[in-house]
Formats: sequence, structure tokens, C-alpha cells
Amino acid sequence: MDHLPEVIQELITKSNEAKNNAFCPYSNFRVGAALLTDDGTIIQGCNVENASYTLGICAERCAIFKAVSEGYRHFKAMAISTDVEKLYSTPCGACRQIMYEFGSDMDVYMTRPDLTYIKKTPRDILCYPFGPEELRMLKSGEVPKVDGDLNDNKMVDGTGDAKAHKKHKGDTAIPAQ
Ligand SMILES: [Zn+2]
Repeated sequence: MDHLPEVIQELITKSNEAKNNAFCPYSNFRVGAALLTDDGTIIQGCNVENASYTLGICAERCAIFKAVSEGYRHFKAMAISTDVEKLYSTPCGACRQIMYEFGSDMDVYMTRPDLTYIKKTPRDILCYPFGPEELRMLKSGEVPKVDGDLNDNKMVDGTGDAKAHKKHKGDTAIPAQ
């Protein structure tokens, strides 16, 4: 970690420390997150569980919602930590979506307790994303910039494979009922 900028080392350290506040009596699975705002502030988050299990929230969203509620809108990086020694701490799908909304290209450090990490962006780890820019383009009729197989002249066959849509002889339009 020594090769990282000091602020990122601090971010990773603080995501580890944030685990100490995890409220997880049901899963006993501690998660910590730390978010670096555009003015250099670090905001921590932890998972918060509830006796009504489905109402809990992840550390990553906890940190982002805390930051947004304090007036922050732009983030440079996030670090995520768990106690799992053999796996990097990857965010769940819901958190990837929330992260994409506020920092599609921020650096996300998914760490292990020994402070090793892999670095990706929300754009890297959320495939076919739907965020503010995609919403704006869809509303305005523009074609979102995706990797080729979701634009308007392609179709997906029954196997889930994207194939170029060609009109076949004998294709007929289905009349509106
Ligand atoms: Zn999550």
C-alpha cells in the first residue's frame, strides 16, 4: 500500500476502522466503507442490520447517504473492507447502482484485511449501467453509449445472445389488438 497516495492509504485504513462500528448481530459479518469527497473529506460507513432483516443497509450506501445528507455530491474514491481474508470486498448490486449515480468513474478500492486491494470503478463493475446520463439520453431519444449489443438495431434472441436484427422474408408486424 506504500505506493499509494497518502490520502488513499488513509481511506483504506478508515474503511477498516469503520468495521468497528458495524451493527451486525444477525450476520456477524462486519463491513466498513470510507468515501473520499471532492474536497478531501473522508466519510465512513458501516453495515447496519435490523431485527426485521430486510431493512438493514450496507456500509457503502451508509457512507454515500451520510455524505449526500451533508451536502456532498461528488466523490473521488471509496474503500471497502470486510474480515474475509481470502476475498476482496466487492459491493452488492444495489450499492454498485448507488455508487454509479454519484461517482461512475471514482476509484473503488476493494480490500482484504491485509490491506491488499483491487481497484475498479463503478462503471467497470456495473454492467449495462442505468444512471443519470443514461436516463437523460433515453428521455431525449439519444442512443446510450453501450458496447454495441443494446442499441436500437440489435435484438436479443431466446438464448440471451445479442444478434443483429435482420428483417426476414415473411416477417409480419403483429397488429395492435
Ligand atoms: Zn450493498
